[in-house]
Amino acid sequence: MRTLVILFFTTLSLFAYDATNGTVLLLEFNASQSISLSKNGITIPLLKHPNDVQKKIAFIAIPYRQDQPIELLYTTTQGSQKLSLHVKQGDYKKEILSVEPSKVSPPKEALAQIKKEAQEAAKIYQTFTPKRYWTTPFAIPLQSTITSDYGNARIFNDTLQSYHSGTDFRASSGTPIVAANDGIVVLAKTRYYAGGSIVIDHGEGLYSVYYHLSSLSLHVGDNVKQGDIVGLSGSTGRVTGPHLHFGFMVQGIPIDPLDFIDKINTLFE
Ligand SMILES: [Zn+2]
Repeated sequence: MRTLVILFFTTLSLFAYDATNGTVLLLEFNASQSISLSKNGITIPLLKHPNDVQKKIAFIAIPYRQDQPIELLYTTTQGSQKLSLHVKQGDYKKEILSVEPSKVSPPKEALAQIKKEAQEAAKIYQTFTPKRYWTTPFAIPLQSTITSDYGNARIFNDTLQSYHSGTDFRASSGTPIVAANDGIVVLAKTRYYAGGSIVIDHGEGLYSVYYHLSSLSLHVGDNVKQGDIVGLSGSTGRVTGPHLHFGFMVQGIPIDPLDFIDKINTLFE
């Protein structure tokens, strides 16, 4: 069930839904209602539907590491309604990977750089740009075989346990990689784990990420259009070989990019 759209046309009946970790729930609302929505006490913005003025939409991102239920509070002029999301663990696989030892146990001199990069990325992903840059469906940045799915539980060099926060596509070094949709480049640099990295802000808390690039074609602040080349694929950072890592962040949470694209694109059907 990749496409789950919940429609709220009436209020004040109790709902309970399953939500899979590492995915997004796409909610649709009747635009004529005055509605506010929160997730565990944090306001979730209601956004314009890209294709239907009668509706509004909201994204509820479910973290990969989330076992507690998520509580949504939905308030209209008629009152409030609580919606408890039971988090179901996705059917994710396990992977055992061998990478350069320094990418599992980084040398001391790399630790400050790693910390700085993590802080810089967190700051970007927590930024909510009110403007929406996209007007058309999202696209996959490369038509190629998927070599590792989002959500795989990973063990690096028999020691480090992690999970895969994006989708990997087979790509020999030097393959052009294109932007999934319009936006503004907010990160363009080489980083310790992600290697050559481009991050695009699509507005309203949505960011697409492209990692392990051998060269970058864009700079921070560039306006990018869907299909523009962001860079060439490579094997920089923590990798077993050349590939593209494509990821998507919603409200600061890395979710399955292909599941997200499937869902958001249903809005154009
Ligand atoms: Zn990856």
